[in-house]
Amino acid sequence: MLNNKIINQIKKNIGAITPIIEPVTLCNLSCSYCFVGEKKSSNMEFSILEKIISSVIIHNGKDSITKFIWHGGEPLLAGLDFYMKVVDFQNNFKKDGYRILNAIQTNLTLLNDEFIDFFIKNEFGVGTSLDGTKELHDKNRCNSFDKVFKNLHYAKSKGLHVGVICILTKETLPHIEEIYSFFRDNNIDFTLSPVIPNSRYSEFILTTDEYYIALKQLFDLWYLDENCKIRVNPCGSIIQSILLKGINLSCIHSENCLNHFLTFLPNGDVFPCNRFTDYEQFKIGNISNMTFTEILKSEKRSELLSRTIETINACRKCEFRQYCKGGCMNHAYEFYQTIYERDYYCQSFFKIFQYINEKVNVSINKAKRQI
Ligand code: SF4
Ligand code: SF4
Repeated sequence: MLNNKIINQIKKNIGAITPIIEPVTLCNLSCSYCFVGEKKSSNMEFSILEKIISSVIIHNGKDSITKFIWHGGEPLLAGLDFYMKVVDFQNNFKKDGYRILNAIQTNLTLLNDEFIDFFIKNEFGVGTSLDGTKELHDKNRCNSFDKVFKNLHYAKSKGLHVGVICILTKETLPHIEEIYSFFRDNNIDFTLSPVIPNSRYSEFILTTDEYYIALKQLFDLWYLDENCKIRVNPCGSIIQSILLKGINLSCIHSENCLNHFLTFLPNGDVFPCNRFTDYEQFKIGNISNMTFTEILKSEKRSELLSRTIETINACRKCEFRQYCKGGCMNHAYEFYQTIYERDYYCQSFFKIFQYINEKVNVSINKAKRQI
């Protein structure tokens, strides 16, 4: 659960931009449902990167913490020297009192001792994707389970924490209990996310009822498991949001994710989120020929920022609007071809907020009676 210090920092960070940077377009895997897909090979020039890093840090100021998220493609393909240069460049700002964090989302297949030591030394947060057991993971992720699981274990044994996103499809839906036990027994924090269609993938998409039932089953397994020591999201983040009256660290339940995130491609193109990089109509600008202020004030960004809980008709009277905030604009776009709709998984959110809210209230009332 979040303590006061973290809540105060979250408040100070309102308005700060978290850049999602793709240093390379390519990936060494080709997972079936990934939105990255096949792209022309391209690596980011350091001059573009320097402009992104300095502009964002100066915009965010010294009170905020600027968090850089390294994504891809497969970001480890950029090589260790690339990240050493990044950290050296960031250190110039740290010396002046700016606060900086880094996180990297990698498939882990290229992880080695040098990367692990570097991530530990420079306090990088590391995230990966693992869809549960070997049988479940290998259905969609290019038979990479053995390599990913071995490297994850090795990284953990050296003291590097790795968080996991587990993608749920119609095929893996009947295995929630197996998925939960796998992560619990291996002591791995994880977030369960439904597979989302994209310009290349539309198979095995869950219905809203299926996703709700999966979340409910996962919540019950985790909530009633007294021996569980792992973080399981979105269950934990929903409880947190209920107790903290709407503070939720997940982008999906933020006021409008564009207030916080911008994605930068190797050629300098700027998009709201890397889920939109296949759609030219969502391009906000290019950092090589625009200033950061011009990007922030661009017409396209203003247009996208107009999607809020107030402008989504269907959410107006929802009793959970304070927690949910209409969900993800990409989930709306992929299913309804407009961002001004509520998230396709609205009904799943509504029912799981209702279910967890009731459980939390029962626990609070029980605790009150014992005081
Ligand atoms: S579009 Fe969706 S996934 Fe992307 S940052 Fe926004 S809420 Fe998150
Ligand atoms: S649960 Fe549905 S109606 Fe309610 S705020 Fe979320 S998306 Fe909107």
